[in-house]
Amino acid sequence: MDTPFNPASTSAYDAVRPAPRALATEAVHAGREDLARQGLHAPPIDLSTTYPSYDSRAEAARIDAFAADGAELDGPPVYGRLGNPTVARFETALARLEGTEAAVAFASGMAALSAVLLVRSALGLRHVVAVRPLYGCSDHLLTAGLLGSEVTWTDPAGIADALRPDTGLVMVESPANPTLAEVDLRAVAHACGSVPLLVDNTFATPVLQRPAGQGARLVLHSATKYLGGHGDVMAGVVACDEELAGRLRQVRFATGGVLHPLAGYLLLRGLSTLPVRVRAASATAAELVARLTADPRVARVHYPRIGGAMVSFEVHGDPHAVIGAVRLITPAVSLGSVDTLIQHPASISHRIVDAADRRGAGVGDRLLRMSVGLEDVDDLWSDLDQALDRGRTQAPDVKGLHEALN
Ligand SMILES: *Cc1c(COP(=O)(O)O)cnc(C)c1O
Repeated sequence: MDTPFNPASTSAYDAVRPAPRALATEAVHAGREDLARQGLHAPPIDLSTTYPSYDSRAEAARIDAFAADGAELDGPPVYGRLGNPTVARFETALARLEGTEAAVAFASGMAALSAVLLVRSALGLRHVVAVRPLYGCSDHLLTAGLLGSEVTWTDPAGIADALRPDTGLVMVESPANPTLAEVDLRAVAHACGSVPLLVDNTFATPVLQRPAGQGARLVLHSATKYLGGHGDVMAGVVACDEELAGRLRQVRFATGGVLHPLAGYLLLRGLSTLPVRVRAASATAAELVARLTADPRVARVHYPRIGGAMVSFEVHGDPHAVIGAVRLITPAVSLGSVDTLIQHPASISHRIVDAADRRGAGVGDRLLRMSVGLEDVDDLWSDLDQALDRGRTQAPDVKGLHEALN
């Protein structure tokens, strides 16, 4: 069946799917294998919200099939909330990069996590075991029980003891936002037994770590970060086996947190440069880590063993003054873009977490989190250097700063 629709799920596509290839090759080819046969080079963007059909009996049968197992529809998706061919290309590519059977995309990372929680609690499995730190809003969603879940916080060694008959999910982040703490994924997966382990792989990306190969059943990304890579797309995605993907598609259909096709296009395009971006930014980050570690104005530097482009550090002086003084680096939350961003987690990304819980997770008031981009390392260092000086000597003069910039 040679059809422009849902290239990921057609049998013709499976037939021509080549043997597994290197990540760098998959990054530019996965989800696009059918294009040349169609006489296309760039993937088409399908903005349809509905799909005409003269055969409503056939449509009824396809909707019944989706209701049964949530498998991706063969042929046109009937309606935009059931699927989208452009988004399906991104899902195919991300699944290939993470080494999973499937991936399901959502409107944001938090929409993706919400769908996972809903899938599990719909089975009566509303208890979650989680390890801090997590991204601030993930922590908040679990702690506040906004979706009816109940959380037990523990350390990796306490996971097995924290499991209950109604535990539906174990959740970890590694490296974690914002301390870059790492957990041994294989050991954690073992401790989970038959309870699905969800690993938030936003910081590592599949370039540095593929959690499914270490026993994670669900791999979550805020695709807003490295997968998109240019600070202009909000998205989330869960890579997992086909059984869980079916449930996630059913929840996505029923709750509506779908990804826009234009975002799907931008994410597919972002994936093609992901390995190059992550490797280049990581090399710069490693050099900045060396300079920060040797700097007397810096009390402590956090950098994961697996590397990456995220660096966190604690200053002796005023962290707010450092944020107020950067000029080349952008003082903003989020991460994974081509340009370098810095933020103060206790004020922004993790503000929503109770102060005692935040500090208990190692997110101190002097901690700064930096997402290293693709700029020249010496230009970045000279900006950091003058900002660290401001942090040492004075609190930020916000009024003077605005006058200087205007
Ligand atoms: C940003 C982030 C999220 C949330 O993703 P959104 O796309 O902002 O909804 C989840 N986990 C981590 C590690 C993040 O950095």
